[in-house]
Amino acid sequence: MAVKSKPEEEFFDKLETMSAEARERYVNRKLPQTIKHAYQHAPAVKKIFNEAGVCPEQIRKIRDLERLPITRKTDLIELQKTDPPYGGFLAIPVNEVDRIFLSPGPIYEPVQHAGIKWFAKSFWAAGFRKGDVVINTFTYHMSPAGILFHEALRDCGATAIPMGTGNTDIQGQTMRDLKVTGFVGTPSFLMSLIKRAEEMGYNLRRDFSLKRAWFTGEMLAPSLRNTFEEDYRIDTAQAYAVTETGGALAYECRGKSGMHLMDEYVIEIVDPETGKQLGPEEVGEIVVTPIHNKVWGVVRFGTGDLSSYLTGPCPCGRTANRLTGIIGRTGDAVKVRGMFVVARQAEQIILGFEEISRFQILVTRPEQRDEMTLKIELKHKTTEEDKRRLGKDLNKKFQPVCRIKPDRIDFVDTGTIPEQYQKIVDERSWK
Ligand SMILES: [Zn+2]
Repeated sequence: MAVKSKPEEEFFDKLETMSAEARERYVNRKLPQTIKHAYQHAPAVKKIFNEAGVCPEQIRKIRDLERLPITRKTDLIELQKTDPPYGGFLAIPVNEVDRIFLSPGPIYEPVQHAGIKWFAKSFWAAGFRKGDVVINTFTYHMSPAGILFHEALRDCGATAIPMGTGNTDIQGQTMRDLKVTGFVGTPSFLMSLIKRAEEMGYNLRRDFSLKRAWFTGEMLAPSLRNTFEEDYRIDTAQAYAVTETGGALAYECRGKSGMHLMDEYVIEIVDPETGKQLGPEEVGEIVVTPIHNKVWGVVRFGTGDLSSYLTGPCPCGRTANRLTGIIGRTGDAVKVRGMFVVARQAEQIILGFEEISRFQILVTRPEQRDEMTLKIELKHKTTEEDKRRLGKDLNKKFQPVCRIKPDRIDFVDTGTIPEQYQKIVDERSWK
């Protein structure tokens, strides 16, 4: 197992700093190779191509992927049932597979460790190095997380402790006794470890050596990140991973403004209804095609997660585009005038105003044009002038993030929006 020998190096590999032209050449070489191999060796892929009327030679660059349908988790589950055990996606002889994971579904995922470096790349970017002693609190049973993260920490030279889930008391004791410097897990689990340690009478900053934490599986709320970093002096980084494709798709650098896309995958942001690719800053579904190894032939896997991407330089020096974070699931979004409005994203903006207690977004379609109304319930009685000012401020914040301007903002009386309510109500009729 190759361990990075120079800890002062900032980048894990040469892919991270490719120029735009070099990246295009790299993808245009890797993608057709992967597609050809999957078509020849994975019967399910051949069937998908044949049904779409596409031959593998037609997939030469990222844009060409639009010709193919999106395969979703539910499709994988169904296909593995009808064509057990791998649904026709295994693209190498089974005796060459070194491990098989189980994802909820169940979905059987054959993985070969050889050549897997994408998690290591993400730990490296988060500052994990030789000398770090790290507790890995993801499960080592069945699912890929535990063992893949463990090996990736070793690839960075760090010492890994296979803790798995649960046992907060033992975890806390181990962190203290072994002077653990790094945590790998979910933000909420780290918070419960800290709370438990405090209940046991410890002072985290005085009694523990924890310096950095790496999170996945749950998005890190800005307020929680602030608590970790400011109150407990723990440097944090997060990564976005999808088990069905066996890996980390995007990872934060120390710039902490978006997650760099991993060059071992082709990652598209698409309109989930049409499968068409979207441009920078447009919200759509994350769709993944691995181009890093030949084990698993899944092409255009639809994650169901919504995000957008940013182009432009990052101060860290990595050149890949950045994912802006996961802002919801495809089911939680409504398309208004061609743009996805995501409940959680709208909520972050609207409830950022402390005068507002609740809101509801109403989408209607009078005269064949989508209209969006924000119903805003205020905490206190407010003058008309203050409402006008608030409406203006809301518009100013809403539009750049949600990429669409509300047609109307209606201020409603306290108690008008019921306690249990839908954040987005789509009242359009398409008859
Ligand atoms: Zn960066």
